[in-house]
Amino acid sequence: MPALYRRTLIPLINIDLHCHSTFSDGVLPPDQLIARARSREVTALALTDHDETGGLMAAQTAAREHGIILINGVEISVTWRGHTVHIVGLGIDPADPQLQAGLAATRTGRTRRARRIATALDELGIRGSYEGAQQFADNPEIVGRTHFARFLVQQGIVKDVHTAFKRYLGNSQPGHVPHQWAALSDAVQWINSGGGVAVIAHPGRYPLSTAEMNELLAEFRDSGGGAMEVVSGSHRPQQYMVFGELARRYGLAASSGSDFHSPQESRHDLGGLPALPAGCMPVWEKFALIERASALRPLPA
Ligand code: AMP
Ligand code: MN
Ligand code: MN
Ligand code: MN
Repeated sequence: MPALYRRTLIPLINIDLHCHSTFSDGVLPPDQLIARARSREVTALALTDHDETGGLMAAQTAAREHGIILINGVEISVTWRGHTVHIVGLGIDPADPQLQAGLAATRTGRTRRARRIATALDELGIRGSYEGAQQFADNPEIVGRTHFARFLVQQGIVKDVHTAFKRYLGNSQPGHVPHQWAALSDAVQWINSGGGVAVIAHPGRYPLSTAEMNELLAEFRDSGGGAMEVVSGSHRPQQYMVFGELARRYGLAASSGSDFHSPQESRHDLGGLPALPAGCMPVWEKFALIERASALRPLPA
């Protein structure tokens, strides 16, 4: 990376490449999300709804009005060796037929899973959760665990969304149902077909051994993956260096994203994360973003 770039541009641009709207499990509609990003001085934002690109058009319109750059994104759920892993696609063409077919199939599986989660909660004596979760889901095709979690909070069964995952919906909790998502290489291929860059989301969240993490990264890269999240709302600051080093070792670019869902629920707000550690190749260099970002915010004299 040219030294000039690091010294002059990084402090001037604030890039957040991972967040959610009401088209998946975020609480803000795309236009409000963009307005919030603008008020928080975000220069470029990627909207990355789960398995869904329906919010991008409204987000692009709002981004033009607010003068921020909107990267078309998505976050695809995949299953790798029995683990759920999330693959973000950045700079995708939402009209790509192969990408859309893959996302549609993923959404169908999600709806089936929601029924099974409701059955599991029924067996625990928690009734009406399918309809209850639907109430919190603006997009009926994307009913996810977050919507069930909000229902459990509304019913007074748990005090907050985090506790709902800890007691009911998280891995190996009684309301958790195993689900087979897309294959890793398929999701990467859909993203590449749509002209995007595939990014491993929040790698620090997966309960993988060191050997498994290395195998995941090698397989991801060999399937055509291009980047991984190094700075993430799900990572502790000590993990930024660890994943920065892994990205470098596997020749992957580095991404940064808050994974913002809600002002009430999210630990990190839009654009609230620090810069990438030195030595990382920023993924946004792949989108020729730099000129546009610096045009929006002129360098000080
Ligand atoms: P799903 O794709 O339906 O399995 O839901 C996954 C989503 O649940 C993630 O994208 C997060 O928004 C949310 N989530 C997962 N684990 C937790 C947790 N421990 N606390 C709060 N939200 C969580
Ligand atoms: Mn989510
Ligand atoms: Mn995720
Ligand atoms: Mn996410």
